[in-house]
Amino acid sequence: MFKRDGRMPQAAGSDPSGPKLSAFDQTNARLRAAMDELPEGIVLLDPEGRYIHWNKSYADIYRRSADLFEVGTKMVDTLRIGIARGDYPEAIGREEEWLADRMKRLATAGERHEQQLSDGRWIMIEERRMADGCTIGIRVDISEMKAREASFRLLFESNPVPMFVYDRETLKLLAANETARSHYGYSAARIATMSYPDIAGPHAARKNLELHAADQSGAGKHLRADGTIIDVATFSRAFVHEGRPAVIVSAIDTTERNRSEAQIAFLARHDPLTNLPNRTFFRERLEHLCADLALHPEGFDLMLVDLDGFKEINDTLGHAMGDYLLQNVASRLQELAPMAGLVARLGGDEFAIVNPRHAKSESAALLGHKIVTLLQEPYVIDGQQIRVGASLGIARAPTDGESPDVLMRRADLALYESKAQGSGKLTFFVPELDAALQARRQLEADLRDAIGNGELQVNYQPIVDLKTGQPRVMEALLRWNHPVRGNVPPSTFIPFAEEVGLICEIGAYVLQQACTDAMSWPADVAVAVNLSPVQFRRANVLAIVMSALASTGLPAARLEVEITEALLMDRSDQTLATLHALRRLGVGISMDDFGTGYSSLSYLRSFPFTKIKIDRSFVQSISTNPESQAIVQAIVGLGQSLGMAVTAEGIETADDLSYLQGTGCPQGQGYFFARPAPAAALDLGDHELPNDGRFAA
Ligand code: C2E
Ligand code: MG
Ligand code: MG
Repeated sequence: MFKRDGRMPQAAGSDPSGPKLSAFDQTNARLRAAMDELPEGIVLLDPEGRYIHWNKSYADIYRRSADLFEVGTKMVDTLRIGIARGDYPEAIGREEEWLADRMKRLATAGERHEQQLSDGRWIMIEERRMADGCTIGIRVDISEMKAREASFRLLFESNPVPMFVYDRETLKLLAANETARSHYGYSAARIATMSYPDIAGPHAARKNLELHAADQSGAGKHLRADGTIIDVATFSRAFVHEGRPAVIVSAIDTTERNRSEAQIAFLARHDPLTNLPNRTFFRERLEHLCADLALHPEGFDLMLVDLDGFKEINDTLGHAMGDYLLQNVASRLQELAPMAGLVARLGGDEFAIVNPRHAKSESAALLGHKIVTLLQEPYVIDGQQIRVGASLGIARAPTDGESPDVLMRRADLALYESKAQGSGKLTFFVPELDAALQARRQLEADLRDAIGNGELQVNYQPIVDLKTGQPRVMEALLRWNHPVRGNVPPSTFIPFAEEVGLICEIGAYVLQQACTDAMSWPADVAVAVNLSPVQFRRANVLAIVMSALASTGLPAARLEVEITEALLMDRSDQTLATLHALRRLGVGISMDDFGTGYSSLSYLRSFPFTKIKIDRSFVQSISTNPESQAIVQAIVGLGQSLGMAVTAEGIETADDLSYLQGTGCPQGQGYFFARPAPAAALDLGDHELPNDGRFAA
């Protein structure tokens, strides 16, 4: 009843015209047809190992040997022929041994094994004994799986990331790749004796175990063979390893990265000099505190601290000393830092403190006074005693504001007010300060516009030869005529322009205009221009002077620059160099308002002055005040002996004039001769002297 190929004739019913079959044959035919539908190769052998039946997939799997299959033929014989033809590459060179092994497996049946075919395919063989002694063999083409396995091995073994495989149930390590072995320092032999918890700790393995169904990424610590612990980012995944449920873990060592990230994060939020939180960090905390105001309605005080005279210390004693001082200030502030409070360095010599208001906190006023007092205590640095003051500005949340911006601005306004009042002051924000700020903003905008609108006009006031009445120099004095504000006095807008930095632009304009105007005056009349210390600090004074001279053609000897003591107090090498360079060009240098500041004689010696201008406060009382007389006389004498011209400012009356003439003061300036006037209205003729220059006192 079996056909030669061991396959059944067509099942009854599928071909109604075919021969009639018994019910048994029909069932048989159906079974065989069903077997042909299976993707696995199925073979049936009798107890002696002879072929009884094989399905379509079996014939297909062994297509090279299919011509040898015949019902009743012994499998061992077809194998032998197959071996001889080279159908089984694993048998080459050990034919008998291979065959014996194969037959032994067939005899013992029950164990799976793999077999390679000459075309490279891999077949998985499973054989089972049936009750009647027959054997049913199952064949599955596992070539694809084998290829996947091979590429997995390659990927695993040569992966640059350390990888481990462990048994999901016993947690025993099943494999560790080359990178893992070398990075962790465990030998392959040692790995074989270890469990995953030996590396990752008991917790990590359990966690992976619990979550084995999903892809898991995590961070943890791993132990290396030398006992060091490393930070790792792990990725675990459940899979089947050689038939066993397993977990594969790749572990990236993040120790270095974590360390440098932590360092970068710290640096980004702390001031390297004092280790205090910096502005960024402080700002974050302030944001949190503001967000928390609903929960803590009692609020907090924001205190800004600024050192008084820090710049001078830095300039005179050097930056290293300045740095030490800041560190000392920082630690004093930390001493006072309120419970749960915060101290930060916002930059330069500016610090901030948050004083949370809770049962045990001090009042802002008390804490503020403590801060001012403690910071004023002398500092001993490098055996040297240094003193520095501190000013404080305080804004209170939520009364003064509920956002970091508003609170910072208001505390800053209060600080600004403290500074304006002198050293060691403490100011609480009040709404009037805000109004003052508004006004300043408007003034700044107006002044900015004034530059472009032609509202700024340079006026000139003569400096006269007190013997002849001849104008020697015209001092350029700036006027601001604002359409609404009217005439704004320079004593208001010049310091303001200095504060907001506009003075550089304004100063360059005055210089240019003064040189231009001077070109239309007699060649023996010079022009004097006032320069602000801010210009020396922020702008290149030498360059703007040279460009004004070059573009107008004014000889350098016809230009005088007037500077005040405020500039010299900076004691900067840069300033001194600029003054010397100006002097070398031939530009005259006048010390303005002499007598009002420190009037240090050393200034007169160490800076290249060509003229001293005696401040008008000494001149205006000269005919009656003996002290002023003595001072003026001394200055005139000083000028003579140092070879500097002397000008008396603010001569208003004939009496002032005649007294000054009596002292031998060579030049004078004041309303008595002329008020400052626009270039077009200037009288460049000689001024009439009431006494013809003779001594009149
Ligand atoms: P300063 O350089 O000492 O100028 C002399 C000031 O005294 C001028 O005031 C002038 O008008 C005033 N004055 C002159 N004679 C008399 C007098 O007999 N009696 C009285 N009471 N005052 C007299 P002004 O023009 O108001 O300038 C004030 C200050 O503003 C100037 O003092 C100068 O420091 C500054 N300033 C003016 N223009 C400029 C400028 O273009 N640049 C800079 N940086 N400062 C300027
Ligand atoms: Mg002046
Ligand atoms: Mg002056």
